[in-house]
Amino acid sequence: MSSLPPPSKPHAILIDGKTIAAQMRAQIKSEISVLGFTPGLAVILVGEDPASRVYVGNKIKACADAGLRSMEHCLPASTPQGDIAALIDRLNADPQVHGILLQLPLPAGFESDALIQRIAPHKDVDGLTIPNIGRLVARLPGMVPCTPQGAMILIKSVCADLAGLHALVIGRSLLFGKPMGQLLLGENCTVTQAHSKTRDLPALCAQADILVAAVGRAEMIRGEWIKPGAIVIDVGINRREDGSLCGDVNFAESLPRAGAISPVPGGVGPMTIACLLSNTLAAAKQASQENIS
Ligand code: NAP
Repeated sequence: MSSLPPPSKPHAILIDGKTIAAQMRAQIKSEISVLGFTPGLAVILVGEDPASRVYVGNKIKACADAGLRSMEHCLPASTPQGDIAALIDRLNADPQVHGILLQLPLPAGFESDALIQRIAPHKDVDGLTIPNIGRLVARLPGMVPCTPQGAMILIKSVCADLAGLHALVIGRSLLFGKPMGQLLLGENCTVTQAHSKTRDLPALCAQADILVAAVGRAEMIRGEWIKPGAIVIDVGINRREDGSLCGDVNFAESLPRAGAISPVPGGVGPMTIACLLSNTLAAAKQASQENIS
């Protein structure tokens, strides 16, 4: 007697950030084509960090594809902090510049926060100035940091109404974890924010309808920790010993258990760039409406 094939395991929906980002970029490009002027993004890169160079190169290419003007300012790591501050002041006053991006991390020795806070809030397309963080917490319109904004779009692509869901954000950085928690709270999730001092992370993961991992530790979230059917968003970008990229979540283990999961690469990463273009376009539209430099 021939045996029946084993029952097929449930399989998560793959959240395709590449495709969703491409759709966003096409929409942005079409809006720019009828704007009547060209939005401008100034990118400041300090030092020689190879990963930062790649990120900046990708952002500049994306600007060109969408019809934005990008202005690259590559400075040696020996540049005095005061010169970078003076550059930011000039860019703040330049009406051709609608967005300013200071590529992080800066080389050792710089006071990053002082430079970030110098960016005019209406040109702060990374959403990292205190006024923009405050507006996010107060639920007022402002610049929302690109990566959490992109992660939220991915979550909503598989679940439109998040009210009452338990969301676990692993990581509490200003760049990602904290704004992500605020965005989820704004969608009426019950939010738990985990960090390096959190106890019993697997138990918290087991309760999470939405799990967002932004730690920077290769595949630390095991498949067996994940609540069956959960939406899993993997923000981490890590390099394995063989040089390949992976996220903070063990993807292969999680695929049969999660309800939906974003891969690395091809998940959150492309969304960050799409949201940067979107923030720059929004800043340009606002500047033209309010006639500000
Ligand atoms: P970060 O500033 O280093 O923050 C990491 C967070 O993880 C911290 O809050 C830290 O807790 C927490 N953490 C560390 N070990 C932990 C543990 N064992 N258990 C639970 N939490 C732990 O990093 P980030 O800037 O937020 O970035 C996180 C990851 O996302 C990185 O891999 C980065 O490359 C990636 N990323 C990707 C994009 C993208 O476009 N896809 C954008 C930004 C970041 P403490 O606060 O207690 O130290």
